[in-house]
Amino acid sequence: MIAEEIAWGCTGIGTAMEANTLAEAPVLVGGSDEQKRRFLAPMTKEFRLAAYCVTEPQAGSDVQGIKTVARKAGDDYVLKGSKMWITNGSVADWYFVVAYTDPSQRYKGMSACVVPRDSPGIEVGKKEQNLGQRASDTRAVTFNDVKVPKANLIGEEGKGFLLAMSAFDHSRPVVSAAAVGLARSAMDHAIRYAKERTTFGVPIHKHQALAFMVAEMAMKIEAARLLVWQSAWKIDRGERNTKEAAFAKAFAADTAMETALNAVQVFGGYGFSREYPVEKLMRDAKVFQIYEGTSQIQRLIIAKEIFERS
Ligand SMILES: Cc1cc2nc3c(=O)[nH]c(=O)nc-3n(C[C@H](O)[C@H](O)[C@H](O)COP(=O)(O)OP(=O)(O)OC[C@H]3O[C@@H](n4cnc5c(N)ncnc54)[C@H](O)[C@@H]3O)c2cc1C
Repeated sequence: MIAEEIAWGCTGIGTAMEANTLAEAPVLVGGSDEQKRRFLAPMTKEFRLAAYCVTEPQAGSDVQGIKTVARKAGDDYVLKGSKMWITNGSVADWYFVVAYTDPSQRYKGMSACVVPRDSPGIEVGKKEQNLGQRASDTRAVTFNDVKVPKANLIGEEGKGFLLAMSAFDHSRPVVSAAAVGLARSAMDHAIRYAKERTTFGVPIHKHQALAFMVAEMAMKIEAARLLVWQSAWKIDRGERNTKEAAFAKAFAADTAMETALNAVQVFGGYGFSREYPVEKLMRDAKVFQIYEGTSQIQRLIIAKEIFERS
């Protein structure tokens, strides 16, 4: 509910805040009590940010394609590789990083660790000039032989992929709620404008073709919100929500994009202008179909859940 309201105001700000959920979730799932005290407890006491570092320049959907490695050296790992598209890359206090400890084992050879931002050898790239959500900081983060103490390994060696994926069951309901918030904002603007603007002697909402566009928005927003709440309710009860979180993510992201696009249509020429709010919403909406698993990947997950788990 909070994520929806913040996103109603600005999804760029919402994404910057939500990135903490994504980075913290695998520590919550796989971290020891000592690690939770060290990394998570401070996040509840003061303003701190964390970043989730999985994607690389050559590998996003296909996580097994990452190249970053963590080599053992005494009581440390030495981390080498580059991450891309990292939300809060320049402002995070720590990074959750997935790297290969044994590349020959494919996804079973990936491990996860927490890397404090002030570790020597970390290089942060320029702020990416994105289409939308420009309030959110997105950067490349490179680890040049960064020493990471073994005490910062989350879970066991070889569990990195599973931990990284487990984060999404927690974070997808939140990111989907943000997509609902954006869609609601676009619809609110569309309704207000449809009452004010007149053509052919009547307010434009009196034209059925336009009113139906808004009816479609309202119906899909309501459905998206219920999917979001279902996925959040399941994880709160400690139940597996992988399929429901993918339902929510795919449907809410597509609803946000369609609603923002149609809100621009309701505004006519003014919708195309930067002086009106809906063009920003249309630019901001697009990334919901890309990050935290693209809309195609959500459908892959749903199909896998249907055909391989039931
Ligand atoms: C603003 C922003 C913030 C981000 N923040 C983070 C972050 O904090 N941490 C992080 O780790 N990553 C982050 N990402 C990365 C994001 O998760 C990836 O961009 C996303 O997973 C897609 O990966 P890719 O860009 O490599 O596209 P690709 O995986 O190369 O996909 C390209 C296209 O092919 C499609 N495709 C790929 N495989 C299949 C398949 N098997 N079947 C059907 N279609 C397929 C995709 O859906 C997509 O349309 C962020 C990205 C953006 C844009």
